[in-house]
Amino acid sequence: MADVAVLGAGFIGLSSAYWLLRDGHRVTLYDALGPGEATSYGNAGTFANYACIPVNNPDVFRNLPRFLFSATSPLRIRWGYLPHLAPWLARFLLNATPKRYEHSAKALASLLTCAFEGYREMLSIDGLSSFVRERECLYLYSNADSFKSAQPSLALRRSLGVRFEHFEHDGIRELEPNLAPIFAHGTMFNDSWFLSDPRGFLQVLYESMVRQGMQHERTAVRSLEPQKSGVRLVDEAGRVHGAEHTIVCAGALSGRFARQCGDRVPLDTERGYHVRFPGTSSLISRPCGWAERGFYMVPMDGGIRAAGTVELGGFGPQKNPELLNLITTSAQEALPGLPQPDSNWLGFRPSLPDGLPVVGASSASPRVVYAFGHQHLGVTLGGVTGSVVADLVAGRASPIDLEPYSPRRF
Ligand SMILES: Cc1cc2nc3c(=O)[nH]c(=O)nc-3n(C[C@H](O)[C@H](O)[C@H](O)COP(=O)(O)OP(=O)(O)OC[C@H]3O[C@@H](n4cnc5c(N)ncnc54)[C@H](O)[C@@H]3O)c2cc1C
Repeated sequence: MADVAVLGAGFIGLSSAYWLLRDGHRVTLYDALGPGEATSYGNAGTFANYACIPVNNPDVFRNLPRFLFSATSPLRIRWGYLPHLAPWLARFLLNATPKRYEHSAKALASLLTCAFEGYREMLSIDGLSSFVRERECLYLYSNADSFKSAQPSLALRRSLGVRFEHFEHDGIRELEPNLAPIFAHGTMFNDSWFLSDPRGFLQVLYESMVRQGMQHERTAVRSLEPQKSGVRLVDEAGRVHGAEHTIVCAGALSGRFARQCGDRVPLDTERGYHVRFPGTSSLISRPCGWAERGFYMVPMDGGIRAAGTVELGGFGPQKNPELLNLITTSAQEALPGLPQPDSNWLGFRPSLPDGLPVVGASSASPRVVYAFGHQHLGVTLGGVTGSVVADLVAGRASPIDLEPYSPRRF
């Protein structure tokens, strides 16, 4: 059994720690933050095993004018960031060709098919399943044309094993009577579910692992250097630590560790927002996504969380008031009973331009394993990623073909 350092206390890092502890390793978690305090905090919490369609699908080109110039577009670019973003954006658009997009969709589907297996056993931890709400996600279309143009991607999902059923006006009303009658079509994804508090889930998981002996060094790691029989880590304060294996799960901040290990990985962020409407959770019974506006309304503990949108704009902490306003007013249009929100949040999805995560050993050494870049799917893919990480550390063959997620694919 080995000493393993896990960098990052989000869905990916904590799930990796879970599977490593299960194999009997001694795990030390490194993070200046507590469990689930970064991007894993404010997401929509959906177990979206149907979401094998990358954001950059071939429709991106057709929709580009609307995305760039419409006031209700959920996709924005921070123009000041464009010089830095340009190479990533070029690759993002190149990956929107039908062939590349189908490749990414298939590779995502193969992870998503195993996503529940990654959580099944973990959910028996005391208190963890109390966050699971077994209500399927309903995706709503206010415009018949956009439902029509979603058909090819729905057909691709179906061919990749995703199960769903369609509803029209009356059916939607029966499912969610408080929604305004503005949605002509809805698609409900069978077998999906959601978490009533993603951070609460990670806190309980973390506490159970601390009880099992997991250590937590409350510091950021500055650098790592693979050596013959292990990995040398230097933290922010300049203190040196050692581990036999190191797992890089630092979300959108993982790129520097890949560079230190000789891998040039084009990791950037898709910024996303949420607003919370306190005390409103009884208005809907399931996650309701508004397709054209790019966000979900989710009945979480403490209120409806309206979460989503994509802003390409790096790490700056400034929030985009237009996107916060778009989410707020759109949620109020969809659910007329909603009051003013009492809080909002900005998070940084770790995203590669082909929409696939990086999961695999570094070029410098098999003792450094990467697990980052889960874009819109880190909640859903945490468990299965953790199981793959444990396989890599143990030298076991993974049941999943890992080639599509290789750090050397770029
Ligand atoms: C608006 C929005 C809605 C979303 N909805 C969903 C959804 O419904 N379903 C879904 O599956 N996914 C969803 N996602 C995506 C999901 O939230 C992310 O993919 C996931 O949180 C990424 O987890 P992570 O562990 O990789 O990163 P994080 O949660 O960001 O964790 C990374 C950790 O690494 C730490 N770290 C950084 N640098 C260092 C360092 N140098 N040393 C040590 N530690 C370091 C950070 O402090 C942080 O705690 C959504 C995202 C957004 C923004």
